[in-house]
Amino acid sequence: MEKFILDEARVQRTVDNYRRIKNDVAETAIRAGRSENDVRLMCVTKTVEPEYINPVLDLGANLIGENKVQEYCSKLETLHLDGVEKHIIGHLQTNKVKYIAGRVDMIESVDSVKLAKEIQKQFSKADCVANILIEVNIGNEESKSGCDMSELDELIYEIAEMQNIKIKGLMTIPPICDENEVRKYFAKMHDKFLSLKEKNIDNVNMDILSMGMSADYEQAVLEGSNIVRVGSAIFGARHYN
Ligand SMILES: *Cc1c(COP(=O)(O)O)cnc(C)c1O
Repeated sequence: MEKFILDEARVQRTVDNYRRIKNDVAETAIRAGRSENDVRLMCVTKTVEPEYINPVLDLGANLIGENKVQEYCSKLETLHLDGVEKHIIGHLQTNKVKYIAGRVDMIESVDSVKLAKEIQKQFSKADCVANILIEVNIGNEESKSGCDMSELDELIYEIAEMQNIKIKGLMTIPPICDENEVRKYFAKMHDKFLSLKEKNIDNVNMDILSMGMSADYEQAVLEGSNIVRVGSAIFGARHYN
């Protein structure tokens, strides 16, 4: 194994980035006529070593997102997670669900009945409830996970029947596009979110709208997001091994 050498300058950059973005999110919320406490900043920690994550957690960051189950589980021990909420945000394979039953606060990437059924099965076995968001493929992109907008209602009604699952809202990753176009996608998500909220479906709370990443979190906040998921703008470019 390669010896780990802490890059002190990177720690400092990370801390500075976190503070700046935290402020920026609050200011953008206010600019949108919302309360600064209305929007939570998630630190997306995939591929980042705990040595660079802990300084941000020590500053008071209280929400992290990880993509891969194995990486998530291997980091749990070393992260300073007191009072920190942990979300799985990446595409989740059914055979991995058993490893996170009872060990996550939310799964943001539920996009099929098949996956929901496995979550129901494993969380029921572990005697706990899974809080989930439904991931919507807002741009109808072939390559992306997420359910199509046209199938969203049916998916929600079906999952709402599952005893050990609580639907808390929606998540999306829009297509890569310019500022104006991305705002339209976010606005469309927000409209759908509000119309689902109005329906007051049993066992469904439409409280969370998770959208916006490093490149577009401001647009997302302006269009009603209440969780922005920011990775590289805090921790720097990702290096995949
Ligand atoms: C990686 C990832 C992010 C963060 O992406 P950045 O562009 O680095 O901010 C947000 N959401 C999901 C689902 C991701 O996989």
